[in-house]
Amino acid sequence: MSYIRCNFCGATNLRSRKRCRRCGMGVEIKAKKSLQTAFAFLIAAVIFYIPANIYPILETTKFGKRQASTIVEGVIAMYQAGDYPVAFIIFVASILIPFVKIAALFYIIFSLWHNRCKRLEQKVWLYHLIELTGPWSLIDVFVVVILVALIHFKNIAIIPGIGATSFALMVVLTMLSALAIDVRILGERCER
Ligand SMILES: [Zn+2]
Repeated sequence: MSYIRCNFCGATNLRSRKRCRRCGMGVEIKAKKSLQTAFAFLIAAVIFYIPANIYPILETTKFGKRQASTIVEGVIAMYQAGDYPVAFIIFVASILIPFVKIAALFYIIFSLWHNRCKRLEQKVWLYHLIELTGPWSLIDVFVVVILVALIHFKNIAIIPGIGATSFALMVVLTMLSALAIDVRILGERCER
């Protein structure tokens, strides 16, 4: 007899059941729908990754002079100013992690779609890492928000640029993509 776990409340149900015996939520694995949804969110995230990196994340107006900087420009400026730890954190949080995450999600979705069961532990581990780092990816947006809220010097005005909005949307879409993947597919497809 085989069993299936309810994604909502965690109860173990008989495989033949359509709804959870405890909470009534659907327990069937809809692999195709889950992977298609995840893939759609991921494509949208990739689309927003581009403006997030080429448009300014921050616009500063000082003495009437307008200055805009993208994420990369920010990292370079911090590095040149000698703020190595800050430059490193921004580089890792804003450029490296989103890129690695998108690549990892493509890999997971692709291998689930094609029923590739090699290195299963690695995939599960990778998936949990993506889930775990999700909320931290918004650290950049928080920095911008805090800067905007804190700095109210007379002649300096800071406003978030299109880059910041795109970045936030990209992070949210990546998280939605990870959430759309039903992890039970890994077990279902690869059970020996
Ligand atoms: Zn349940």
